[in-house]
Amino acid sequence: MSHSAQAKAQYNFNKLQKRLRRHTGQAIADFNMIEEGDRIMVCLSGGKDSYTLLDILQNLQRSAPVRFELFAVNLDQKQPGFPEHVLPEYLDGLGIEYKIVEEDTYSIVKDKVPEGKTTCSLCSRLRRGILYRTAKELGATKIALGHHRDDMIETLFLNMFYGGKMKGMPAKLMSDDGQHMVIRPLAYCKEADISAYAQQKEFPIIPCNLCGSQENLQRQNIKAMLQQWHKESPGRIESIFTAMQNVVPSHMADTSLFNFAQLQTGEVIDGGDIALDKAQFDTPTVPEEEHSDSGVKIQAIEL
Ligand code: SF4
Repeated sequence: MSHSAQAKAQYNFNKLQKRLRRHTGQAIADFNMIEEGDRIMVCLSGGKDSYTLLDILQNLQRSAPVRFELFAVNLDQKQPGFPEHVLPEYLDGLGIEYKIVEEDTYSIVKDKVPEGKTTCSLCSRLRRGILYRTAKELGATKIALGHHRDDMIETLFLNMFYGGKMKGMPAKLMSDDGQHMVIRPLAYCKEADISAYAQQKEFPIIPCNLCGSQENLQRQNIKAMLQQWHKESPGRIESIFTAMQNVVPSHMADTSLFNFAQLQTGEVIDGGDIALDKAQFDTPTVPEEEHSDSGVKIQAIEL
């Protein structure tokens, strides 16, 4: 590589790292994910996302205005072919506190789930239980997971398409028993940035299909749909994520979120009194003649 090509590659890498740092820092601030004195357990699977999470958190730790501790935990689920030496070698190199928890969830899952059925839901439930227990044993105040913006968007569509719920993946979550605070500091980071970063940092990635499970087909379909949208209309994914941060309950149809029944004349509500309907979004694509021919003015419908 020529000198100028090297300089350009370094420049692009610095930009990418800064962007990941900025987005992570912003999510941490917006959701108050990390506080003074926190002891954060970073769950490391050996995939690109969790390596990036640990790397960026360590990076932020050096300049953060609050003091917090980080330690890594990996769960060795005893999948055939799991390269046990990879993570300890990597973590020794970082000089960070860590623990490898060995639990044969692989055999349990194989034993309990009938052949051909998807194993991921039982496997993740078992994993979550083990990670919660480990967090308690090691005195973690927060548990950090490597999910990112695209995971959150995909989950929203999965829940809408297959679960009949407008429910995404929270950036910060309290466990059901109120004992564990789970945080997702990469919530604002794009998967494409994380992939590029992991590649350039040459993280020693451990393949995630060692268990032999097919990746969840429904999630794959949603991913493909979103990628297609992105190709056809760049910016759409960003727009969807912005929408997830701008929910207007008074313009949805969930009577438990907004008290439509008790709505009284004279009351002022957030969200505005104009609902954009389909026509509003169609306006730019409707030829001018159609407007005049039909005499119809396409505009937002006032309610
Ligand atoms: S892909 Fe395998 S290891 Fe991962 S959650 Fe599913 S069953 Fe578990």
